[in-house]
Amino acid sequence: SSQGRAALVTGGTSGIGLAIARRFQQDGLQVAVLDLDRPAARAVAAEHGLGFVGADLSRRDECRRAVTEAVGLLGGLDILVNNAGFQHIDPVADFPEDTWDTMLHVMLTAPFLLSKYAWPHLTRSGQGRIINVASIHGHVASPFKSAYISAKHGLIGLTRTAALEAGEQGLTVNAICPGYVRTPLVEGQIADQARTRGITAQEVEQKVMLEPAAIKRLLNPEDVAALASYVASPAAWGMTGAVLDLDLGWTAR
Ligand code: NAD
Repeated sequence: SSQGRAALVTGGTSGIGLAIARRFQQDGLQVAVLDLDRPAARAVAAEHGLGFVGADLSRRDECRRAVTEAVGLLGGLDILVNNAGFQHIDPVADFPEDTWDTMLHVMLTAPFLLSKYAWPHLTRSGQGRIINVASIHGHVASPFKSAYISAKHGLIGLTRTAALEAGEQGLTVNAICPGYVRTPLVEGQIADQARTRGITAQEVEQKVMLEPAAIKRLLNPEDVAALASYVASPAAWGMTGAVLDLDLGWTAR
């Protein structure tokens, strides 16, 4: 059973991360969330009875401390969900170099560092899990998102490599690739695009974001959490190195 296993979800006080953390609680796991140390983030964790680890994943030393803190808080660590991320939109020719560095650190280097530091814990139970929240932008590109898309493509490479190394230790490593999910991150993009294109939010959703999708409806964070719940479950012991698309049919064409 999954009773008593412990999970850490990064970016777990908002959007997809919060939905995964809450779903894991319902599944009977011990759950802590990692997020930037802000009063609002602490309040969300407290409201839901989630352990909280404050850390900035753009810093290597904070990644190391966060694993130590999470293991202390939870009494071990069986499941790591690398979910924290953010978007920045600019053409390559104008893309701010510091923003590139931060995005690559938060969305690719931190998943590597947390996996590395947590590895001895994750391999203890024989039911360990690393779940990397990549994106459909881990397979395909869209203009103006060079850092995000590069980080997500890299995260799929890390997932496959770690899966090969972890196989004999009962630790599975998988990536989940959502299409557009209704979260604060996406609501922000819809508002930005409506402004820059001079169209309504509804038109951005239907004509821009969902243009390549077969199902013209945004996903909900709970839809992604349901998939993470299965991947985390003991039943999914044979699934590793998988890149799981939940993309409304986007990449079917
Ligand atoms: P969100 O903005 O609602 O949540 C992201 C969380 O990450 C926030 O709580 C934020 O504080 C945290 N975070 C950002 N930088 C951090 C840092 N330096 N250190 C620690 N925490 C940090 O976003 P979301 O839409 O829920 O996205 C979650 C993940 O899902 C991201 O990796 C995103 O790329 C991915 N994703 C989202 C969508 C979507 O449509 N929303 C689609 C595909 C993939």
